[in-house]
Order: sequence, then structure tokens, then C-alpha cells
Amino acid sequence: SYGEIRNATDGFSSSNMIGSGSFGTVFKAVLPAENKVVAVKVLNMQRRGAMRSFMAECESLKDIRHRNLVKLLTACSSIDFQGNEFRALIYEFMPNGSLDTWLHPEEVEEIRRPSRTLTLLERLNIAIDVSSVLDYLHVHCHEPIAHCDLKPSNILLDDDLTAHVSDFGLAQLLLKFDQESFLNQLSSTGVRGTVGYAAPEYGMGGQPSIHGDVYSFGVLLLEMFTGKRPTNELFGGNFILHSYTKSALPERVMDIADKSILHSGLRVGFPIVECLTSVLEVGLRCSEEYPANRLAMSEAAKELISIRERFF
Ligand code: ADP
Repeated sequence: SYGEIRNATDGFSSSNMIGSGSFGTVFKAVLPAENKVVAVKVLNMQRRGAMRSFMAECESLKDIRHRNLVKLLTACSSIDFQGNEFRALIYEFMPNGSLDTWLHPEEVEEIRRPSRTLTLLERLNIAIDVSSVLDYLHVHCHEPIAHCDLKPSNILLDDDLTAHVSDFGLAQLLLKFDQESFLNQLSSTGVRGTVGYAAPEYGMGGQPSIHGDVYSFGVLLLEMFTGKRPTNELFGGNFILHSYTKSALPERVMDIADKSILHSGLRVGFPIVECLTSVLEVGLRCSEEYPANRLAMSEAAKELISIRERFF
């Protein structure tokens, strides 16, 4: 109930706020009955699209379980003391925060800044985790789901840095896809994912699809191993890595790689240039401009696992 959530979060104060997103604010809280630490996302119902986002999270996550999916524990809908509509989503708490803060620590305030950078192997493991859950959502769960907003701030890290994909506010159950409500959502909120990560076809009125997620995953890979945001000017604002042909990649790779992963613990005799080139090639093949040219998520996952086996 509203009262219980309010007590659990010790009121909604800035001291227990852990982040804010497009449709709401996230607080750290303890559920007294189980003494369990949770993250409570309180939706800002004034924002257009908040209701749709709440429903999309509930619908997408209600029947599915995967080790790399954030666990939605419950949803709460009520009227607060002032008679306002109140909605909250309660998730398992992820102690290592979002991947975004690990990739761009210089942009994070000191108290939230991770104490070290992620190694090459840790990044590869996170990429494999994310590819595995996307493959599950796209083909293996009872109803195909496109996440539609994959980006580092939506990847949360557990104690042991296991990745959990979160934020299903824009997700689409593809079998139930409703063109009209999708178009309404676009025109009322302008939401089509995030600039830099959203597939080019989304900007041209394209429908949500699993290929769109593959594109975002490709951008994510490029970001994780170069340390640059997709909008970084090094990439002309949209990862012109694409203009480096695959054959030129080995020569360029040391210039564009994230310098903090260069001491990497690879097996002796397995050069980092080769490892990074292979990973970035997967990124490029996922973020091809035309959806039909992109890898399937299952292929990307397989390639990343085989790179890990080869080099570590
Ligand atoms: P977005 O910014 O993508 O809209 P959210 O509203 O889902 O994302 O979350 C905002 C931020 O709150 C996240 O980037 C993350 O730092 C934090 N957060 C969200 N859920 C959790 C959780 N379950 N555990 C820990 N931190 C979380």
C-alpha cells in the first residue's frame, strides 16, 4: 500500500534517492516484513506516457524470469494522502548501480563513483549477460518482447557484477503490438528510445522490433570497449566507427579502445588487438544500418562466448 511504501522508503527524501529516469524517481528502501533491500520506482503520473510505461513494465515482466533480468517484485497502485494517483514499481536492489556510472565515472558525483574501472573480461561477461537475456526475450520466452530502450543506464549490476537488464517502460510485447497506441505514444511523448542508441528506422516511424534491440546492443558493445558515448565527437556524433572498414579496424583499434582495459589479463600469446577487434566487429555487425543485415541476438551471443573462450 501507499503507506507501507512510504514507510519503507522512510518517506521519499533525496537522501535515499538513487536515480531518476524519464517517468519517475528511484529510491532505495527496506521492506520491513522480509527485511529485504529493494529499489522503489515512484512514477511521476503528471508525465505523459507514465501510465503506459507502468503498464508496459508490469505486462512485460509479470511472467518472465531470467538470471539477467531485473526482478520486479511487485507493483503498487493507490491514492496518496492528498488524493493523487500513486503508482510504484518495486524491484530487487542492485548494489553496483548502473553500467553507465562504471563506463563514465568522470561524469558521476564522487559518492556514487565506482572505486575502480571494469576489466576487459568483466566487460565481456556483462556483454554476454545482456546478449543472453535479449536472445531470451526475442525468441525463447513465451511471447517475444522488444526492449526498445537498451543503454548503459538500463543495465544494472549485482554484487558480483552480473548484469540485469531493467527499465521495460518502452518495451513491446510484439504479438500484441498495437500500431495505433504505438503511434499515439510517439506523438504524445516523442519517446522512441534514446538518441544514439535507437535504431535509425525508429527515427523514420519504424515499428518496434527485435532488430532495433540488436542495433542498440551493437552501440552498447562499441561504447563498452571504446569508453566513448555514441554521441562522442570522435565518432562524428553517431559512431562513425562504421566508416572504418572491417579491414582497417585492427590498425585503428588501439587508438579508439578504452585505455583503462589495455592491461587485460589475456592468455599469453593472445594479443589484445585481436581480442578487441573481434569484439568491436560484433558491435559493428549488430549496428548495421539496415535491420536485415544485423546479426541475430543468438549469433551475437555465440560469437561473444567464443571470443571469451579463445582469449581468456
Ligand atoms: P532511466 O534513467 O533509464 O529511465 P530508471 O528510471 O529505471 O531509468 O532508473 C534510474 C536510475 O535508478 C538507474 O539508472 C539506476 O542508477 C537506478 N536504479 C534503477 N533501478 C535500480 C535497482 N533495481 N537497483 C539499483 N539502482 C537502480
